[in-house]
Amino acid sequence: MEGPQCMKCIHYQVTYDISAPRGCRLYQIKSAVMPSMIVKQSTGKECPDFKLREKKKEEKESFNDPKYWKD
Ligand code: SF4
Repeated sequence: MEGPQCMKCIHYQVTYDISAPRGCRLYQIKSAVMPSMIVKQSTGKECPDFKLREKKKEEKESFNDPKYWKD
């Protein structure tokens, strides 16, 4: 896939609109296709505002943790 990957961008959102589930908060786009495609079609250039979303590290509970142990 060419261009910025919206799904990895902090501005990407999934909308509640079934016919337009892909959205961009920054450009206020709701669409069936990726917002970056709309930006490219409109401006002729790749989206300049892609910003990589950092993954949240999920701390999984471990039941091997001594805090769960009873004496
Ligand atoms: S800013 Fe660009 S890359 Fe990010 S979601 Fe919007 S269109 Fe996609």
